[in-house]
Amino acid sequence: MNSTQPATKPHVVIAGGGTAGWMTAAALARKLGPLVRITLVESSDIPTIGVGEATIPPLRVFHQLLGINEAEFMRATSATFKLGIEFADFGQLNQRYIHSFGQTGQSSWLAEFIHFWREGLDRGIATDYGSYCLELEAAKANKFYTSAQNAPLNYAYHLDAGAYATFLKHISVQAGVNHVVDTIEQVTLNDAGHIDALQLRQTGNLHGDLFVDCTGFRARLLGESLDVGYEDWSHWLFCDRALAVQTELTPPLKPYTIASAHSAGWRWEIPLKHRMGNGFVYSSQYLDETTAHDTFTALLRNTPLQDVRSLQFTTGRRLKAWHKNCVAIGLSSGFVEPMESTSIHLIVMGITRLMQLFPYSGDYQHLQDEYNAQTQIELERIRDFIVLHYHVTQRDDSAFWRACKDMVIPDSLSERIELFKEHGHAFQKANELFRVDSWSQVMLGQGLLPKNWHPAAKMMSDEQLAGALKKGQMEISQRVAQLPDHEAFVAQYCGQ
Ligand code: FAD
Repeated sequence: MNSTQPATKPHVVIAGGGTAGWMTAAALARKLGPLVRITLVESSDIPTIGVGEATIPPLRVFHQLLGINEAEFMRATSATFKLGIEFADFGQLNQRYIHSFGQTGQSSWLAEFIHFWREGLDRGIATDYGSYCLELEAAKANKFYTSAQNAPLNYAYHLDAGAYATFLKHISVQAGVNHVVDTIEQVTLNDAGHIDALQLRQTGNLHGDLFVDCTGFRARLLGESLDVGYEDWSHWLFCDRALAVQTELTPPLKPYTIASAHSAGWRWEIPLKHRMGNGFVYSSQYLDETTAHDTFTALLRNTPLQDVRSLQFTTGRRLKAWHKNCVAIGLSSGFVEPMESTSIHLIVMGITRLMQLFPYSGDYQHLQDEYNAQTQIELERIRDFIVLHYHVTQRDDSAFWRACKDMVIPDSLSERIELFKEHGHAFQKANELFRVDSWSQVMLGQGLLPKNWHPAAKMMSDEQLAGALKKGQMEISQRVAQLPDHEAFVAQYCGQ
């Protein structure tokens, strides 16, 4: 492509066949099919990372865009529904809260619901903040419902990562993607420093116009060949190791992920239809691998179905996600750690942005600059949200948690914390994934209670305020009582 008008359809070469590679292939093929030629190359010798099984609601939009049938997708990936994440022992030991995908209470144009709730709390007439959120109450009751006509709940999925890649592979190949199984041994650059071809072990040179690096943490193209550096965030996100294992399922089938903090990190439990995904994320600075392994296996609630796998990572971001004629999507572009299940979402955003800013013709430097600027701000805002879970804690029972509490956090985050602590305000910024509800639920859940709040709430009488709070809550409990059990609904919706 090299900044000149292409004579023929641009050839897009996707390197890597993990979640990122196949999501990119499926989306480009289904949405830009007639405009581009697509080849995906993946190695049979280099495994995919094999984790990444909890998602967030915008994945549904991605599936709608691709015309994916929900029940078919869920059957193929043994998926369950997800309404949020339960965080245990983060703010303090023996305390838990759910960060749900729902909206909490009714806000007014003048002030968010939290201001009215805070006033109600002060007057002793408000209950737990989460009790005003439908998704959160449904999650606690293990209930779920959706239908094509009526989707009252905001939800995402837990899915089998390997099966998801296979599902997308079928869609991609059917839509015309050329699938090559081979290993990239060298990357050839032209005089302008653009990628000219990938040298494959068995099939020779694979030429292309645009290369999408989906080779995982290794970033074989953008990192190793084009030498684009990596900004390390491990001074804010200390965890750099994970252990993962699948176990038998422990009933009941919960419609939420469980994240439980431990002395040097946290562990996840992700319920799929046929098994549980378990992981143990920790900081090697504060915990050695043997202790981590023993602690993790002792905490498993059910029989392992495989050996425990060990993973390493460095949180941070690739300094440019798009450089020359190569765009990194997936782990090759950065990693904020899996606490809020944001990586697959970032893949969706990378793909969407690439399709919107696709370099069909002309000098594409401006497209590239815009792509990189949007990617950076989006990732930094997610990073701040994750750092919040570690930093705002009352825990001082281990060196890890004391270090989290004492660390110097990004200014962008400390400003938000102060605004919330002093005045109860949380705002969703431009290009930001997490909404006011998410920020409020997590800040309260971690133990941050606003000292002041909007006086609009103070103008209400006890009767008015109690009535408004109670009304919303009663509607929620009536709705939850009518919802079917999550496990029964999954079985009925997807078929046995
Ligand atoms: P990979 O899965 O590593 O795929 C890389 C591909 O590149 C493979 O096909 C490989 O064969 C190929 N490849 C590499 N080198 C070569 C070569 N030389 N030649 C040819 N092919 C090559 N995300 C979420 O959204 N939710 C979660 O719950 C979640 N949990 C996670 C937990 C942990 C501990 C970690 C580390 C990550 C988690 N993620 C999660 C992130 C998620 O796993 C990834 O975003 C997702 O799997 C995409 O990975 P990928 O496709 O970028 O890389």
